[in-house]
Amino acid sequence: MQNKQTKICMVIGDPIKHSLSPKMHNAGYKFLGIDDEFFFSSAKIPKDKVKDFIKAMRLVGFRGVSCTIPNKVEVMKYLDEIDEIAQKIGAVNTIVNNNGVLKGYNTDWLGVVIPLEKILGSGGLEDKNVALIGAGGASRAIAFGLKEKGAKVTIYNRTLEKAEKLAKELKVKFASLSKIENVKNADIIINSTPLGMGKYIDETPVPKEFLHKNQICFDIVYSPEETKFLTDALSKGATIIKGKEMLVYQGLEQFKLYTGKNLPFEVMMGALKTKNLTIKNNMLK
Ligand code: NAP
Repeated sequence: MQNKQTKICMVIGDPIKHSLSPKMHNAGYKFLGIDDEFFFSSAKIPKDKVKDFIKAMRLVGFRGVSCTIPNKVEVMKYLDEIDEIAQKIGAVNTIVNNNGVLKGYNTDWLGVVIPLEKILGSGGLEDKNVALIGAGGASRAIAFGLKEKGAKVTIYNRTLEKAEKLAKELKVKFASLSKIENVKNADIIINSTPLGMGKYIDETPVPKEFLHKNQICFDIVYSPEETKFLTDALSKGATIIKGKEMLVYQGLEQFKLYTGKNLPFEVMMGALKTKNLTIKNNMLK
């Protein structure tokens, strides 16, 4: 039961209706017995309303705000402080209100690095050849995280100019999606395009013939839970990581920033299991 002292957190984006964040965070509050202290909601905030929303955040004193499409870059203009990593990535997905001082963070990169290091061990990304497919918002944080951990990253993208721009910024390699056969030489392949979901449900960015058992294949698409890319990878004996893991690991880091508490992985993951993850169009957390 909420009361006057309840700290409000929320996710803002547009669209927002299908966001899984309220479910993930509220399950955590309940598990830790702090659901009278914290409550997590959502609000549809388009990009041109972000400035007004931040004013309201200060006025009302919301404790934390998660940002999703299209607000991760826009919101940076209105914050008091931005953590060094979020600055380097160029996007904020988490805002913490500490007694009126709003500070922006980015936890998206951890959503990819943590599950990979769980398999490879700490430091295990060093010198690994990673093929990152896609050069959009998610790829930016992922490429940063991989580079930070010493991996050798090549960004493959449909629109070569976009891959080139991002690759030059982050000082990694780039290639056209038409050269995808080169992923044969990659230790890790990450799909960060919508191929495999929604209208692309039967598609994969990597033909099966280029996959093999020594690879780790990570699809950040989480609806459906197992995409065609992952089904193909499994059939070749590769190790797979599902998009839900990224969703949960980045969420656990946000949870820690909002509450100061660690939450077991299984609690947030369990909250997702109770929800039908079939999401129309290209919906994000
Ligand atoms: P975005 O900024 O719109 O970027 C989309 C990327 O996919 C671009 O590089 C685009 O290439 C490429 N793409 C789109 N349609 C394509 C097609 N038909 N064929 C080949 N490439 C195509 O999107 P985003 O924010 O990076 O998100 C990408 C995906 O990641 C979404 O499916 C989203 O649901 C998922 N995601 C998951 C999590 C998680 O926590 N698991 C977090 C964030 C995002 P062009 O440059 O050529 O347009």
